[in-house]
Amino acid sequence: MTETVDAPAATRIPHWIGGRRVDGGSGRSGPVYNPATGRQTGAVDFATVEEVDAAVHAARDAFPAWRQTSLAKRAELFFRIRELLHARRDEVAEILVREHGKVFSDALGEVTRGLEVVEHCCGIPTLLKGEHSEQASTGIDVYSIRQPLGVVAGITPFNFPAMVPMWMWAPAIACGNCFVLKPSEKDPSASLWVAELLREAGLPDGVFNVIMGDKVAVDALLEHPQIAAVSFVGSTPIARYVYETATASGKRCQALGGAKNHMIVLPDADVAAAADAAVSAGYGSAGERCMAVSVVVAVGDVGDRLVAAIGERIPKVRVGDGMDPSSEMGPLVTREHRDRVASYVENAPAEGATVVVDGREGVPAEGFFLNPSLLDDVTPAMKAYADEIFGPVLGVTRVATYEEAVRLVNESPYGNGVAIFTRDGGAARQFQFDVQAGMVGINVPIPVPVAYYSFGGWKSSLFGDRHVYGPEAIDFYTRGKVVTSRWPDPATSKVDLGFPQTR
Ligand code: NAD
Repeated sequence: MTETVDAPAATRIPHWIGGRRVDGGSGRSGPVYNPATGRQTGAVDFATVEEVDAAVHAARDAFPAWRQTSLAKRAELFFRIRELLHARRDEVAEILVREHGKVFSDALGEVTRGLEVVEHCCGIPTLLKGEHSEQASTGIDVYSIRQPLGVVAGITPFNFPAMVPMWMWAPAIACGNCFVLKPSEKDPSASLWVAELLREAGLPDGVFNVIMGDKVAVDALLEHPQIAAVSFVGSTPIARYVYETATASGKRCQALGGAKNHMIVLPDADVAAAADAAVSAGYGSAGERCMAVSVVVAVGDVGDRLVAAIGERIPKVRVGDGMDPSSEMGPLVTREHRDRVASYVENAPAEGATVVVDGREGVPAEGFFLNPSLLDDVTPAMKAYADEIFGPVLGVTRVATYEEAVRLVNESPYGNGVAIFTRDGGAARQFQFDVQAGMVGINVPIPVPVAYYSFGGWKSSLFGDRHVYGPEAIDFYTRGKVVTSRWPDPATSKVDLGFPQTR
């Protein structure tokens, strides 16, 4: 993917350091495409180690004043950011469509879910409240406070170029940290748009910085001595690498990885509702969501009815340019990714699966399109089951019992989202108890938590022990301090060499 800037029509996409655009000097850049046309529209600078260092220093310089800024002023600023984002979300949604490919309504949905995290951060004075114990010992009060870490970094994937960075920068900055973002090189422009909006809202220069780039930039962030914590969202192998490298450098790290989300359909489920959910959650955003349903597990005799109902719905999904209001599903992000996803459909018969709908048929010649595919009789031994396909390919796995279905989920190396469709409240409650995954939907196919809970998976879907946004983000981006204080009556003062006791 790396190449020099060779497309004169392509817009240069630079860094954002210390409150302004800064062109990179490495001579290396990456192409940015409009996936609906297949044409290159941008060339994003790839940072040098020195440019990463400059961004970290800008953040470091801004930190003392930013951490002194009162909670009232930070809250006021977040309200302004919220208002600007809300008023101008169409602008950023259009940028997302043109670089990522998702349809406009979906892009607006992405911005709106990110906005919810910003709204949650408007309550930062409440979120940072500590605890206080009066008279813990005679004349002694104990209280806890939470303080920012300093400079923290975020490294983000291509599939949510606005929302996932918001999961990170909003709570990090609200807590009093300064932030360096390294967005995906595939769709980087939304991050520059956000940088300008934050400046317009009144965020001081240096509090938010954007470094464009590839592994060179990521490694420089992971090893930089001035960076206290790293948040990462992306694929599992890179998440593992980021976690191991960052923690080896003494940093706090949360690294969210890939997923293979199961949707279990019990025999008593409303089949029409389950099929609607499977199509929406399997093909929405062309399956390029970490919470997309990827495997439908049909329990007992529901399989034939369910496969027929999903198959009936697929031809009605309108695939096209995301800026066309009639489109429901756009192209994939790059040609390479489209071809990789298509290879799972091509190889499915040899693996023993049944291709019910072949999405390789009838795609436009231009752009990176692939229509929805449906595979039946998929088993855990197949690559189509085991791999995170991250595209519009839904597999159906048939099992005889609820226990077998739960075993499948629990034996998966991933544990991001999972859903069950049933009319049986007792079965759903048992499922929530049994299942090994971080986010569970009961008749809800994409159970992304609201902003005042936290988002994160289990097993290879998350390295680290703190989920993103919500209360766990406040913990992640702050350090606790406990103060034990005494304002004694001087008359009670005496020398005592024993260990302090509270009774
Ligand atoms: P990716 O892992 O390829 O890239 C993520 C980030 O890591 C990018 O900024 C990229 O530049 C950087 N990167 C890539 N290769 C690197 C390397 N060798 N060394 C250092 N840095 C590197 O992921 P992607 O393709 O952009 O995004 C899709 C993946 O993200 C999927 O696996 C999806 O499940 C996952 N994802 C997970 C969640 C979640 O919440 N768990 C959310 C969204 C996406």
